[in-house]
Amino acid sequence: MLIVMQRSATPEQVRAVCDRIREIGFVPHEIPGSTRVAIGITGNPGPVSPELFQDLAGVHECVPVSRPYKLVSREVKPEPTVVHVRGEPIGDGRLSIIAGPCAVESRDQIMRTAEHVARNGAKFLRGGAYKPRTSPYAFQGLKDEGLRLLEEVKKVHDLRIVTEVKDTETVREVAEVADVLQIGARNMQNFSLLEAVGRLRRPVLLKRGISATLTELFMAAEYLLSLGNYEVVLCERGIRTFETMTRNTFDISALAMIQHHTHLPVVADPSHGVGICWAVPAMALAAVVAGADGVMVEVHPDPTRALSDGQQSLTFEAFETLAAKLRFLADWRASAGIVPSRRSTHK
Ligand code: PEP
Ligand code: MN
Repeated sequence: MLIVMQRSATPEQVRAVCDRIREIGFVPHEIPGSTRVAIGITGNPGPVSPELFQDLAGVHECVPVSRPYKLVSREVKPEPTVVHVRGEPIGDGRLSIIAGPCAVESRDQIMRTAEHVARNGAKFLRGGAYKPRTSPYAFQGLKDEGLRLLEEVKKVHDLRIVTEVKDTETVREVAEVADVLQIGARNMQNFSLLEAVGRLRRPVLLKRGISATLTELFMAAEYLLSLGNYEVVLCERGIRTFETMTRNTFDISALAMIQHHTHLPVVADPSHGVGICWAVPAMALAAVVAGADGVMVEVHPDPTRALSDGQQSLTFEAFETLAAKLRFLADWRASAGIVPSRRSTHK
């Protein structure tokens, strides 16, 4: 159930509704809009009677919510969410560029990459310190040392750090450095991790699971929002299909679906989406036209020597060329008004 307040409702009236929700044992979620406040309810096992609220001052209407992903859906919040990461918005209609190596490998590697991506318009540096790898024998990341290197980057460059949080044990340690906590595809349904990150007040990049439906992705995001962390950015990174020529099948339709069904920003990750460096730029550009709020790509000073995902990493030169095209396309997209999804209301 969503309680829509009158435009003229006072903060006291909003508080009184939230108090009533708590009194009956449920959890209120204030959802601010540009013209009115709405209050979502979670924790209720079944439908909640509108009569409990209709007598309260300032209440406009009580609307049943049909989606299982209540707080994530456009039904409860028609206006798009903009996530602010240390002053840098994701989802305000412009294009955010997130770039960097798959994994932090050395001071020289991360510093050089940071300098290069910042110079070419990226406001976010990606790089894993803790790496979940398919093989236990593969490079697992520099771990704490990797975090220290990312911390150093922050002191030198105007870059926000996106880095993966692999398990509940390291949430605190990673959150000390990360501006955005990445929850990887393999962890999309790690419910303990979702709960731990949901209790933090830190932006999250939630990647779609390797074989996850969009509803499953939205339900994973719902864990975060239901615990009070509303700063969630979704990420399409390709899914497993019968196709073997590409690493995954980059699901461009997911970008449109996410924009339509949720109010959360969406970032495209064509690097993991196709897994082949020469195919990454075309997919990145396609994602911009399809309405992505951001593009995340892997970049490495020498992809042939990368300790992970070298085959899909862009060289500095390739990134420079792509970044110029991304900026061009993002400007054109804004002037052509081809991102209606960020403004559309739920139907
Ligand atoms: C990554 O971003 O390097 C990564 C491991 O991604 P995913 O979780 O999507 O496989
Ligand atoms: Mn990677």
